[in-house]
Amino acid sequence: MNVYVEVLIAATTRKTDRPFTYHVSEAMADQAEVGRLCEVPFGRGNRTAQALVVRVFEAEALSFPTKDVHRWLPGVALVNAEGMALARHMVEHDLSDQTAAIQTVLPPGRLGSYRPLLRSFYHLTPEGRSAQVPQRATKQRAALEALRDGELSRKELFARSMATADTLRRLEEKGWVERTERRVERRAFHPQAHDPAKVLTAEQREVYERIVAQTGTYLICGVTGSGKTEIYLQLVARALEEGKEAIVLVPEISLTPQTIQRFAGRFGDQIAILHSRLSPEERYEEWERIQNGEVTIAIGARSAIFAPFEHLGVIIIDEEHETSYASEKNPRYHAREIAQFRARWHDCSLVLASATPSVDSLYAAKQGEIMRLDLLHRVHDRPLPKTELVDMREELKANNRSMFSRPLRMAIDHALRRGEQAILFLNRRGHTSYVFCRQCGYVYRCDACDVAMTYHKHREKLICHYCGREKKIMNTCPQCGSSAIREFGAGTEQLEEATRALFPAARIARADADTMRRKDAYQEIYEGMRDGRIDILIGTQMIAKGFDFPKVTVVGVMAADVSLNQPDLHAGERTFQLITQVAGRAGRDQRAGHVYIQTYKPMHPVLQAAAAQNVDAFYDGEMAFRRENGYPPVRHEMQIVLSGPKREAVLTRALAIRKAIEAYEERNRLFVDGPTPCLIERMNLRYRFQLVVRGKERLTLERLGQKLIDAFPTSPEIWVIVSLDPMTMN
Ligand code: ADP
Ligand code: ZN
Ligand code: ZN
Repeated sequence: MNVYVEVLIAATTRKTDRPFTYHVSEAMADQAEVGRLCEVPFGRGNRTAQALVVRVFEAEALSFPTKDVHRWLPGVALVNAEGMALARHMVEHDLSDQTAAIQTVLPPGRLGSYRPLLRSFYHLTPEGRSAQVPQRATKQRAALEALRDGELSRKELFARSMATADTLRRLEEKGWVERTERRVERRAFHPQAHDPAKVLTAEQREVYERIVAQTGTYLICGVTGSGKTEIYLQLVARALEEGKEAIVLVPEISLTPQTIQRFAGRFGDQIAILHSRLSPEERYEEWERIQNGEVTIAIGARSAIFAPFEHLGVIIIDEEHETSYASEKNPRYHAREIAQFRARWHDCSLVLASATPSVDSLYAAKQGEIMRLDLLHRVHDRPLPKTELVDMREELKANNRSMFSRPLRMAIDHALRRGEQAILFLNRRGHTSYVFCRQCGYVYRCDACDVAMTYHKHREKLICHYCGREKKIMNTCPQCGSSAIREFGAGTEQLEEATRALFPAARIARADADTMRRKDAYQEIYEGMRDGRIDILIGTQMIAKGFDFPKVTVVGVMAADVSLNQPDLHAGERTFQLITQVAGRAGRDQRAGHVYIQTYKPMHPVLQAAAAQNVDAFYDGEMAFRRENGYPPVRHEMQIVLSGPKREAVLTRALAIRKAIEAYEERNRLFVDGPTPCLIERMNLRYRFQLVVRGKERLTLERLGQKLIDAFPTSPEIWVIVSLDPMTMN
């Protein structure tokens, strides 16, 4: 018998993104292990490459020639069995690239690139203590004197004694001072005031007890402010008591000081925090801290689900409906599914929670796959805000053409007079504020994409939100020369202007992707709201969640129809979630909250359900629509998007894929649409077509997907991207 390994080559290109088989010499065979790093001869020139073992197997002989592994690299296996299984899961079930999948479960950063931050520390030797230093060697004397009280870092020593690098070198040579190199942590952890566990309300207790009574997957449907976070904290505490670990996922935008403070206040430095603003080194150190068992809780966005814990006691996904939990690029996965997988592996509970659960999770609960638990009341029985749909057609009839309906304007007036705060929500950045000519209808469009460009006023530029190209605006129309060139539609900037005009005395702040670019912007707005330095906050999705300010009593949803009208099967779901979440910002404290939803379609069932804050009404309506059309989650959906610079070539390839699907043995269980041009047919100079395949069983689609990926690999000319149950339309 011979031992063979399949390895992935580090620093790979798309072409080498597949396992390569190597033979392992007898002398090295006992160390062959999945997850181990090795050096192998690679390519025609047999250059030495680093590689990662993904499979070990024995065989008499193989039908093809193999080279030998050079040597094992020192160190333990980089990935454990669970990590390997997770990677395989992403490849088989999410149609991810092999390499991307493996990299997700490896320590962050490129293989071998990480350098710990080492610092030099100095201390006196016994000889140094009793050393007779010549009178004129003042620097040396000062350095020895400074070290008498104990060890100092190089920097501290320089600061206290005027010593220089040269001084230290001399002292070391004389054997009076010794140096040690030690790793220092890059993370600065700020301890918080301890926050003791609260006594759960009866409703919270019921949910908590149900979850600890039996391992399983739970969906907590809890209105905003119902105390979900307190339940997570106590579930985590319980896992720690049992000697286990916990992962808590929150959406990236919720990874705010507020959230972190709550966890840090309860668990101190037991937590590792993983978010996208960490440097590669910081990311690596957090990972290592988890791996070494220095921390027991990982809190983070999507990728924190891969935290390398070995005894998970509970996994929690807050705001489980958030689309940011789905990774749509390689590696492709949904954090919810990875969490399911890990919970099964560790035999622990998975807790999904939201005020507005995803249709997928609600469906799974209806099917009995997961257990739904409701929290119907806010803590201390604070009432939910009163919500009103405002018919903007009536406003027009009454000759009100402003962005503010009369009821909303009045409510803000009242709030300001009582010293309360208002939040105005506008979800239209990048969708409608295009620039056009009133004379001939010319619209500024991107040269590389089939979309209108968006006007960014304070930068005085048009920006394409799909490819980032920029353009200057001319004073006259490029087509007819007229000067009647105007911006159309209302963005947050325009809303800010209109608000200033209407409420000149109010202090107004704006939070959108433009204003939040600066590092401290979020903190400033947060503190401004908390300390009452802002009266009206204007913003996009960014302010839809997390914000918890007692004086906010009015929330205005300026244009509810915008997200409702998106050509996306999830448009209704997104709209319901968004409105419910923003509405939840009002009336968090004693003062009652009022929410005004401005719309031209006040009878729309999604808006009606949102106004009533009724998850089940929304779900029933939405499922009726999806059943009728055979949309997910009733059926699973596979999307195949092709793109390339030559339209004909892309279409031809798409038709070939259609043929392949027709020839698939399980074809009769599938529905195929397309090829059709994508919503935006040309993006960044590439033409885009798509096919959609729907079917009852996901497995059938997974198998078909694998076949298509093998038969129609993506190439530089034509990219082929296959995704299952995608969250966005193309
Ligand atoms: P959610 O996560 O559901 O929005 P939170 O957990 O943030 O709700 O709770 C809302 C508010 O109620 C917070 O200020 C929280 O500190 C407080 N709270 C939660 N549970 C309790 C409790 N059992 N007793 C007292 N206050 C609580
Ligand atoms: Zn563009
Ligand atoms: Zn014109």
